[in-house]
Amino acid sequence: MGKTKTSTQEIEKRIKLKGELVWDRYDEALRKEAFSFAEGYKGFLNAAKTEREAVDAVVKSAEGSGFHAVSQKGNAKRIYRLNKDKSVGLATMGKRPFEEGLRIIISHIDSPRLDLKQNPLYEELDMAMLRTHYYGGIKKYQWVAQPLAMHGVIVKSNGNKVKITIGEAEGDPVFTICDLLPHLSRKVQEEKKLKEAIEAEKLTILAGHLPFADQEAKERVKLRVLELLNQEYGIVEEDFLSAELELVPASKARDVGFDRAFVASYGQDDRVCAYTSLKAMEAVADPPCTTVALFLDKEEVGSEGSTGAKSRFLEIFAADVLRVAGKEPNDILIKEILFHTKAISADVTAGIDPNYKDVHEAQNNAKMGYGVCLSKFTGSGGKYSTSDASAEYVGEIRELLNRTGITWQMGELGKVDEGGGGTVAKYLALYGMDIIDCGTPMLSMHSPFEVTSKGDIYETFRAYQAFLQEG
Ligand code: MN
Ligand code: MN
Repeated sequence: MGKTKTSTQEIEKRIKLKGELVWDRYDEALRKEAFSFAEGYKGFLNAAKTEREAVDAVVKSAEGSGFHAVSQKGNAKRIYRLNKDKSVGLATMGKRPFEEGLRIIISHIDSPRLDLKQNPLYEELDMAMLRTHYYGGIKKYQWVAQPLAMHGVIVKSNGNKVKITIGEAEGDPVFTICDLLPHLSRKVQEEKKLKEAIEAEKLTILAGHLPFADQEAKERVKLRVLELLNQEYGIVEEDFLSAELELVPASKARDVGFDRAFVASYGQDDRVCAYTSLKAMEAVADPPCTTVALFLDKEEVGSEGSTGAKSRFLEIFAADVLRVAGKEPNDILIKEILFHTKAISADVTAGIDPNYKDVHEAQNNAKMGYGVCLSKFTGSGGKYSTSDASAEYVGEIRELLNRTGITWQMGELGKVDEGGGGTVAKYLALYGMDIIDCGTPMLSMHSPFEVTSKGDIYETFRAYQAFLQEG
């Protein structure tokens, strides 16, 4: 009997697919590494709450690892290029010919938030208010009755740029959107659908209360706020028209749980993949193929515009790489290189939520703590609006992750026809490159307090590192 049992176990181990909990695969030392990696990550989250701040944080860290701006003279091994301060590319030169393609990891550094409208300030009932326009897929009820911080830039009429950060430093004031008390919200909120209970035009920010001294003045509170802003930043009301001011949760990244095994923070979609790919780029100093990491903007609104994945920034950056390597770039050569490139679309996926198992299909959805998640395709419905990594490429990545001892899983986002979501993969796939989605599973995605597992974060980093080093 004993012998039979052993052979059954052997057979099961050999031929059955079984995911492994990352914590079971870690020894004490690796667990410590994962926890300590998460400390650096939390610092990044706190420093990089907007796409502009993420670019600054990426550049600062990369410069510390020997990357220099392509416009400056320096060693020709590691370069970066900014795109309008809202996206950035890093590259490390490899030994192999460019014709064998690049190894690219693409993440995004924009997150759902509230933007101030271009003419935001008004006064009502002796209170100054700011009108907002939400950005990306938010659930509006999550943004009321919360402390919010304001981040962004104001470009004045003389072209000077003022950077604004209010609500992050100890002692700073914050902003908030007041919610209606339960005593009076039965008809206007509670009997409505969740989606309609908080209207977009009611996401207005409470921003001031003191009146301008002269009682003859009109809109005295608004005038007093403008006076304060003029004294503090030298701006006038028209300057709001040429500003990008974003309201984000004023909270900091925190550990979650008695055992501190989770990280919770605003903006982890997709700064978890941005940070892990940044650290992987820094760690792989001598790659076989030339490596590139792109940190892109505008993914949350369809990758549109000059700083999103649909822009031609990659081609411009590829030309930089060739020039720095002493090769004359041309269109056909760049297209040829990108055609032979292998890429990872580094974006998060949904982990199965114990409260909402119904929207998931457990056998094919990501589980928290089972490592970095590959998604052969994303999109929705009948595999619409997605690139679909070939079986060959999935096989190659699978072999790589297994060989390098990465804990990984394969997952789709939710049940078929339950909803869905896309990533940048399909825009990069247009070049003909092989690309697959590979990122960290997450709970509470797109909320002001998204949750990831420290083990999954670390495996994401290790997977990206293995891809750049050996891909
Ligand atoms: Mn994302
Ligand atoms: Mn997203």
